[in-house]
Amino acid sequence: MSIADFALPYVRAISPYQPGKPVTELAREMNIPLERIVKLASNENPLGTSPRVQAAVAAALSGVARYPDQYELIDKLATRSGVAAGQVVLGNGSNDVLEMVARVFLAPGRSAVFSQYAFAVYPLATQASGAESIQVPALDYGHDLAEMLAAIRPDTRVVWIANPNNPTGNFLPYADIRAFLENVPADVLVVLDEAYNDYLPPAARVDMAAWIAEFPNLVVCRTLSKIYGLAGLRIGYALAAPAVVDLLNRVRQPFNVNNLALVAAMAALDDEDFLQASYELNRTGMADIVNALGRLGLQHIPSGGNFVAFRVRDAAVVNQKLLAEGVIVRPIAGYGLPDWLRVTIGTAQENARFIEALERVLAGAQ
Ligand SMILES: *Cc1c(COP(=O)(O)O)cnc(C)c1O
Repeated sequence: MSIADFALPYVRAISPYQPGKPVTELAREMNIPLERIVKLASNENPLGTSPRVQAAVAAALSGVARYPDQYELIDKLATRSGVAAGQVVLGNGSNDVLEMVARVFLAPGRSAVFSQYAFAVYPLATQASGAESIQVPALDYGHDLAEMLAAIRPDTRVVWIANPNNPTGNFLPYADIRAFLENVPADVLVVLDEAYNDYLPPAARVDMAAWIAEFPNLVVCRTLSKIYGLAGLRIGYALAAPAVVDLLNRVRQPFNVNNLALVAAMAALDDEDFLQASYELNRTGMADIVNALGRLGLQHIPSGGNFVAFRVRDAAVVNQKLLAEGVIVRPIAGYGLPDWLRVTIGTAQENARFIEALERVLAGAQ
């Protein structure tokens, strides 16, 4: 018997999250100079971090001896979102908020519902809490809300929904989500994960403050890791009814968001030019990549995010060959999609490198 045999059985059964390959790792493994590597594997902002954020973080360095104070950022997010400060909870990445939800609402004897091909953290957070995962077969690679509703059991306490979803990119019309919320039992929490909300055309977004007022069992999660360019600082948040936020705060680590992330988020939220440039770059880059995939005769899933999944024969082999070309994309076999790869939209130059490398790899395979 080893000490590991005495760990919680549902924790021992977890298969760990597989992150995108860091550029430094590929450089070490294949001896490729760092500057020759293009990473399009983790849905990061290809423009990096705005100069205004960098200046704000540099100025805040002198204050890191002090414990952080979340007041200002919570106040700003509340004002922007049209909710009260008591309806905002900050996370060390929105991942942290998802964990808090699981900690508060899930346990052995309870269950959570999510879609096949949904974001990997949903099964992970569910499993780590000891609750049962109810995975509902996807419809055209996206959420089948009717079947998800039907899958809710008396012991179900959480439904996880990503919109747009990662890794498939599917976008559910908000009218469908609204109809779903109207039919979900009031004792089931619905987590609406909007990590890619800022990549939607403004006309497609909705006022979540009104929804939260109407549905006390709704939690809306957002992140600053994607369009705001702060993935490495770890900051995200949730909006919910005051009673839910109060519960999340009870399991939240008191200082879960660090000083630099707080300051960076304040500056990032205000940098409209950077956000607009990031949005436009994604729109044109998505069109270029989707065109190229079509030219190469490869199927893709229409995406509402800053990435697109495409189908390719021998995806694992194609992935290896792309790595040898210095291009990192994301294999999604772990999601049950072994014939697919996911590519993040990069700069025009990075997209061109990806397309050229993919063309070479596919030509060589014939
Ligand atoms: C990236 C992502 C998140 C956010 O991750 P954090 O970096 O922890 O904020 C959440 N949900 C989905 C679906 C994502 O793709």
